[in-house]
Amino acid sequence: MIVLNSLQSYLTILLGVAGGLLLALWLAVVVWAARDMRARSRSTTAVVLTVLVVLLLPVVGLVIYLLLRPRETLAQAYDRALEQEALLQQIEERPVCPTCARPTEMTWFLCPTCHTHLRQPCPVCRSPLELHWDICPYCGYLFESETTEEGHGEKEGRGETQREEEEHGGRERVAEEREEVEV
Ligand SMILES: [Zn+2]
Ligand SMILES: [Zn+2]
Repeated sequence: MIVLNSLQSYLTILLGVAGGLLLALWLAVVVWAARDMRARSRSTTAVVLTVLVVLLLPVVGLVIYLLLRPRETLAQAYDRALEQEALLQQIEERPVCPTCARPTEMTWFLCPTCHTHLRQPCPVCRSPLELHWDICPYCGYLFESETTEEGHGEKEGRGETQREEEEHGGRERVAEEREEVEV
């Protein structure tokens, strides 16, 4: 009788400990699910719903959550968006030859495939300039006109004083010449 009693109390303690451990595990799972959901969604409703499902349906609730939770965490989604944006920008910014459409570099003067004139060197600092630019963004050299061939020879020898001169009259002249070209 005493043996049976002690065995019973022993079993009760054992069950109590096991039950306590299970309860702790269950609560830990609920906390984990709530944190996991918060990392995957900004919606408070979604987090509350997750807690309810995992709390009220032990084990089954966790399985349901694992099956239905958003695939990516917010951080992963953000990283992916950044990567896509960078990729798009790379594609957009990659210059191509207007004639043969092959990829070119920003520093090339000529297309190596079809010999199309891509850029012209700045007469002063030799930087590669787009053909339609009328000022060098690297050294500030101002072209007298955009396209005329005769201008090329003069440009070579121009110095500081002439550039200062242009500060006053050059812009108007360029504007006038542009109008002429347009007409
Ligand atoms: Zn080309
Ligand atoms: Zn320059």
